[in-house]
Amino acid sequence: MKQKNPGKPSEAAEENPKEFLADPYGRKVTGLRISITDRCNLSCIYCHNEGAEGCTCGPIGHEMTPELICGIVREAAKFGVSKVKFSGGEPLFRKDFEDILSCLPPLKEVSATTNGILLEKRAKTLKAAGLDRVNVSLDTLVPEKYEAITGAPAGSLEKVVKGIESAVEAGLTPVKLNMVLLKGINDNEIDSMMEFIRPYKGKVILQLIELMDIDPKLSKYTIDSKALEKSLAERASEVRVRHLHHRKKYIIDGVEVEFVHPMDNSEFCAHCSRLRITADGKFKPCLLVNDNLVDVREARSPEEIEKLLRLAVSRRKPYYIPIKVLKQEKNQEEKKGQEEKWVQKLYNCKEEKSENRTFSRRQENSNE
Ligand code: SAM
Repeated sequence: MKQKNPGKPSEAAEENPKEFLADPYGRKVTGLRISITDRCNLSCIYCHNEGAEGCTCGPIGHEMTPELICGIVREAAKFGVSKVKFSGGEPLFRKDFEDILSCLPPLKEVSATTNGILLEKRAKTLKAAGLDRVNVSLDTLVPEKYEAITGAPAGSLEKVVKGIESAVEAGLTPVKLNMVLLKGINDNEIDSMMEFIRPYKGKVILQLIELMDIDPKLSKYTIDSKALEKSLAERASEVRVRHLHHRKKYIIDGVEVEFVHPMDNSEFCAHCSRLRITADGKFKPCLLVNDNLVDVREARSPEEIEKLLRLAVSRRKPYYIPIKVLKQEKNQEEKKGQEEKWVQKLYNCKEEKSENRTFSRRQENSNE
């Protein structure tokens, strides 16, 4: 294993980057979400696979090397990127994950999201290599349900629980439990999950995630987010709002519960500060869009990485966008004499159900 990540930057270094990179909507990019492999040991019924097209069992050869990953992060850090989250596939499938962590520049936070099955044995070495904390995906505490949702063999849930314990012991805290809510499957388990995390006294946080029904077959599992948020707010002694995606945190009976509500949510997109990188080395401006990727594998120098980084940031667009912004865009396009295109776009746009009236870019794009 290479030398450990050399520590946290001074406050001045974080606050005074060379320059922040902002997209055409004024959203600064301060975080990277890096998929380091498409391979996974689970096959969750709902998995969006970080927006990657194709299956989760591709060849290893296309995966980015630790050198490329660290070169990208080093360049991004010069422009104010201070948080990196590793994902996959299952990031712990990478035997060189510790090497990747060890060559990173100093950052404010380095985290990973894992299904936790392989975590028990790796928690300590990952921490030593520079990982600050983990998210562990855990949708249920009932073994049969866990196996049905994830396709995992019997005994796997136990491994995940041991992985969580090891992560807490190793100091990969706060550990966030990612629980994707599935109507009729696990939406009755929120309270038991809260009881599960209570003994960890704040070292484990529950993160409830709204299902992204990327496949119409999943729609039947979609929960009523508004009703859930209302009930969380009623039970909470305190509600905090995080900058990232404007996520709400509820403190309920001393337990911290966060709600991630990405669907049809223009506020979520308006506060998005992340750029994604696919396992095969492409900047990905949005989880839900695949026709604007920027290939960074061929970059031969830090300058080339910077150029591609800027290009990717310039391609960032909020996927869900408030009508107000769409109208501004329309005015700009009109000035360029493209009214017809815009009228067609607006005509085709689906109005969102929620009160803040947003349009879906997915609708727009599918009609272009
Ligand atoms: N294997 C790792 C894990 O299990 O955390 C990393 C990859 S997984 C794609 C990353 C996160 O995305 C998990 O917490 C998972 O629950 C979440 N996720 C995947 N598909 C989703 C969907 N359709 N809706 C909401 N969250 C989803």
